[in-house]
Amino acid sequence: MGNRKFSAHFWGTRGAVSSPTRQSVKYGGNTSCVEVQCGERTLILDAGTGFRLLGLDLQERKITDLDLFFTHFHYDHICGLPFFAPLYNPECKMRIWSGHLDRDNATRESINDYMVHPFFPVGPEVFKAKIEHKDFSAGEDLAPGDNIEIKTCALNHPGGATGYRINFDGRSFCYITDTEHNADKMDETILQLIEGADMMIYDATYSDSEYPNFIDFGHSTWEQGIRLCKAANVDKFGLFHHRPSRTDEKLDSIVQEAKLEFPGSFATLDGLKIEL
Ligand SMILES: [Zn+2]
Ligand SMILES: [Zn+2]
Repeated sequence: MGNRKFSAHFWGTRGAVSSPTRQSVKYGGNTSCVEVQCGERTLILDAGTGFRLLGLDLQERKITDLDLFFTHFHYDHICGLPFFAPLYNPECKMRIWSGHLDRDNATRESINDYMVHPFFPVGPEVFKAKIEHKDFSAGEDLAPGDNIEIKTCALNHPGGATGYRINFDGRSFCYITDTEHNADKMDETILQLIEGADMMIYDATYSDSEYPNFIDFGHSTWEQGIRLCKAANVDKFGLFHHRPSRTDEKLDSIVQEAKLEFPGSFATLDGLKIEL
């Protein structure tokens, strides 16, 4: 194999709504978007507000062949889509994947329904890129080519969401966000998906002490992320989908606590780039 590069670049790490404040300069305020490079291929996970910045960067790097994988279409994961420069470039080829709705045309229809009056001024017909919509059903394996193997699972979230595991060149990266745990037992589907992975990015919206106030909101805790990593022998744990109210100071103290509990813990932040 030629290019063995495998990296994750975080463009947006907040959950729910963007939160750019003077108290969140270090971790950033953009919502979900992660770029994963596998050799020459560029995979993108979610299109939150961080997606706009990624688009400008890809334009500069002249990368025009892209795969975008949605966990689901809640606003914090899709709102960057119309602001992504490569979509207005006729040279760009983009495959857009989603698996949580489990029906034909779900990907195309959801984007159409999102860019519609009275919520948005123009529809997706303004895009110039060659777009291919790829529907799958969460739990299926995906083979986007170039020796990239993607495993998926259904997450526990209102309206559904998809968890991803990307295997490339003997390494593995898991992206598990927007999922609610059950306080009494671990999610077997997630455990199976992440078993032995090098890294898991996980929905750390709440802490265990906050969670009882947010049951059925569809999110999890950083402590649950650690329990999953320990049970499934995952090496590194990236806290993700930070609550908008989390200041830099608060996140610093959470990471410190998490590291004591599980040394492989770190907080994802806007602009962070990791070689896998
Ligand atoms: Zn979210
Ligand atoms: Zn959501």
